Amino acid sequence: MPAGILYFSLLEQMVKSDKKIPEEEIENQIRKNFKMKGLILADVKIIKLHDKNLTSGSSKLVPAAITNSGEVNKKWTSGVGKEEFKVLQEYIYKTIKDISQEILKGKIDLKPYNKKGKTPCEYCSYKGICGFNTKNCDNKYNYIPKKTSDDVILKMKEEI
Ligand code: SF4
Repeated sequence: MPAGILYFSLLEQMVKSDKKIPEEEIENQIRKNFKMKGLILADVKIIKLHDKNLTSGSSKLVPAAITNSGEVNKKWTSGVGKEEFKVLQEYIYKTIKDISQEILKGKIDLKPYNKKGKTPCEYCSYKGICGFNTKNCDNKYNYIPKKTSDDVILKMKEEI
C-alpha cells in the first residue's frame, strides 16, 4: 500500500524580489517551493511519518494538515483513504492497459490534457508539427478534474 504519490521540482529555485531580503527569508521561500505536491494517504500516522515535526496545522513538506484535535484536516490535505487509493491504482493499471491496446490498434488521436486551463501543449517541442487545434472538431482536450473528489473515485470504481 503506497503512502503517497508525491513529487517536487528539481530545478534550481530562484527567489525574486525588488528589495534586499534577509537570507533566512530567501531560505524559507526556497523551502516553500520544495514542498511536495501530489496525493497522500489520508491517515494521521502516515502524515506524521512524512513530516516528523508536524503535530497540528499544515505541513511544510507534504500537502497535508492535521487539526488541533489530531485528525486529518481534509480541507487542507490532498489525500484519499486506503480504499480510494486502491481504486486509483486499479484505475491507472486499467487505463495504461486500455491506452496500450488502443495504440497497438493504431489509435493515436491528439487528446492533450487540460487541467484548469493548463495543457502540455504550452511547452511541447512537437507543437510545430502536431497541428492540434481546437477549431478542428476532431481535436478535443481531455479535461481532467481539479481534485480527486468522491464522485470521481466512484466513477473510476464503476469503470474497473
Ligand atoms: S502540441 Fe500536440 S503533441 Fe504536443 S502535447 Fe499538444 S497535442 Fe500533444
